[in-house]
Amino acid sequence: METLVSYSVRDGVGIIVINNPPVNALSSGVLEGLKNAMDALEKNLGARAVVVVGGGRTFVAGADINQFVEIISGQGTIPAFHPVLDAIENCAKPVVMAIHGTALGGGLELAMAGHYRVATREAQVGQPEVKIGLIPGAGGTQRLPRLAGIAKAAEMCAFGEPISAKEALAVGIIDKITDGDLLEAAIAFAREAQRPRRTRDLPVMPADISEIRKKLRGKLTAPVAALDAVEASAALPFEEGIRLEAEIFERCLHSDQCKALIHAFFAERAVGKIPDLPKNTPVYPIRQAAVIGAGTMGGGIAMALSNAGIPVFLKDAEQAALDRGLATIRKNYERSVKSGRLTAAAAEERIARISPQLGWAGFEHADIIIEAVFESLAIKKQVFAEIDKVAKRDCILASNTSTLDIDAIAAVTSRPQMVIGTHFFSPANVMRLVEVVRGKATENRVIATATALAKTLKKVGVVVRNASGFVGNRMMFPYMEQAQLLVEEGATPEQVDRALTDFGMAMGPLAVADLSGIDVFWRIEQEFPPPVGSKQPEAVDKLYAAGRYGQKTGAGFYKYDENRKPTADPEVLALLQKAHRAIADDEIVERCIYALINEGAKVLEEGIASRAVDIDVIYLTGYGFPAYRGGPMFYADTPGPKKIRERVREFGWKPAPLLERLAEEGKTFGSL
Ligand code: NAD
Repeated sequence: METLVSYSVRDGVGIIVINNPPVNALSSGVLEGLKNAMDALEKNLGARAVVVVGGGRTFVAGADINQFVEIISGQGTIPAFHPVLDAIENCAKPVVMAIHGTALGGGLELAMAGHYRVATREAQVGQPEVKIGLIPGAGGTQRLPRLAGIAKAAEMCAFGEPISAKEALAVGIIDKITDGDLLEAAIAFAREAQRPRRTRDLPVMPADISEIRKKLRGKLTAPVAALDAVEASAALPFEEGIRLEAEIFERCLHSDQCKALIHAFFAERAVGKIPDLPKNTPVYPIRQAAVIGAGTMGGGIAMALSNAGIPVFLKDAEQAALDRGLATIRKNYERSVKSGRLTAAAAEERIARISPQLGWAGFEHADIIIEAVFESLAIKKQVFAEIDKVAKRDCILASNTSTLDIDAIAAVTSRPQMVIGTHFFSPANVMRLVEVVRGKATENRVIATATALAKTLKKVGVVVRNASGFVGNRMMFPYMEQAQLLVEEGATPEQVDRALTDFGMAMGPLAVADLSGIDVFWRIEQEFPPPVGSKQPEAVDKLYAAGRYGQKTGAGFYKYDENRKPTADPEVLALLQKAHRAIADDEIVERCIYALINEGAKVLEEGIASRAVDIDVIYLTGYGFPAYRGGPMFYADTPGPKKIRERVREFGWKPAPLLERLAEEGKTFGSL
């Protein structure tokens, strides 16, 4: 364990180096090593001061999340942070923390236990624990307010966003920024430091943080808990504040939200490992891309590619469509410039990487061509036959279809092994999900390239099999059906949507239908008629017949003003409701969410998704499922398969065979 932390003495300054690659996570071994090094240096007469620095590319970027997983499952205890941090803070010699890379979570808590902090200009510091449902648990909520003030500490602990070294200097978290050699600067600082300055001894002023409290939306419990702990720093002596923090931390650690958020955190990594794809499958380099169709999706995909530095040919069949597409792209970039997210020069550079055109010029150089024309199999087949003629042999041919058969599209080409679905979500320059649809013939290398490209675009590629609606939309249809049936039985659209947003969905299903377009849903229904004899809602048909296409026509399940602000519309009730039963919110949530889960179980059993975690990531990143519930299949284990099967039967549906089996065997989706 000693090698995790080493120390030496140089010209009167003790230097402690933490070496726990890749990010110097604050594991029990590191804590023990730090304690031993501090003890040794405290006794060492040759050392007048101490510097602590991270070996490798960063200071300490956090605690070890796996340790928390073990504790939650009853196999470990919370590491003894405090004795080590107290030993550092109580050291009679000045202790200077030298920060490069990031000091996050336990890393910042360690840094604050030192007496002074010197950082590189690029360094960042933060308390991101809320992102996995926790609060800082090693004194962060008590030491940070003493350095940065209650308001700043509250903001950092409640929202979890890191801040730059410059800002950290301005608010008092660090004492000096160096542009030179970090270790040298820290040693020089340590030599000049007259005496230790314990963070715990600094005064802390009460402050009004009600504005920050108001900004906390949704049902996340950790941010509220973090504010309680930070606020206590002004009301309680340090030691009592630490005790309160520990109590709150422990409560958060054993909460369902924490488990779900940790699941969501690891889930994104898990989907990157595709079960039947050899680990070292080579990928094709993507240096030049082309997109066909400059509409809603094509424009967004072109932006995503350009944002990642990949030049794109953007082709459409009509000049007017091309102009419209480009105007939208320009408007989107202008918005980013206005809000300060992008400089004007960077925006111009990104626009310049997109080459609008009506012809095929340059397509022979493209490494990937992504088709995003109208959703019609006939048109797509025609487009792919043309692409096949112009593309080079090792060019990947991708379709953004959301419902059509990838194998049927591939069949019109001379190279079905190079054809794949890349199903982006709208708006494609923002939404992180890409369903990567493998066809029967798609070669491994093409699958690996598509998922690697998603990563390059800062998105998450989830590999699924070719089937109607793939995974996400296939599961959404029964969910949407229930939402409509509930309105027909007597619920209002507002109640249905509110029950589900209260559950945590980013948007209610009926508001989503209005946003996507009732006409879109109607068209899908025509193409994929529901099974004969199943109880189907008529809401979409009726709205479509009434010309209520949703936001685009000013009316759908709701009425919309010119700013697309929705209001309830009594006319819709007259049009759709067939009964007036009082329906409880619980029934709404159960029917919609269990419909989603039951379909998810079928998708799993049919192998369209290979693992439950793939479904979770699809719903977390593409459908606004709340991360604090972990995704539909993770959440399913909360009521459990048995209870869900019982309710599914009571609702008069047929339980998915996999749900039946798990319920029968008393197992969970997590056990698969
Ligand atoms: P859109 O109508 O906004 O854009 C389609 C564009 O393709 C138009 O600009 C049209 O002029 C152009 N086009 C049509 N035929 C062409 C041809 N032969 N050659 C070149 N250009 C042609 O449609 P969209 O919403 O961007 O959808 C595109 C695809 O993405 C569809 O397959 C759709 O199912 C899928 N998709 C859409 C969404 C969404 O939310 N809109 C989400 C995921 C996937």
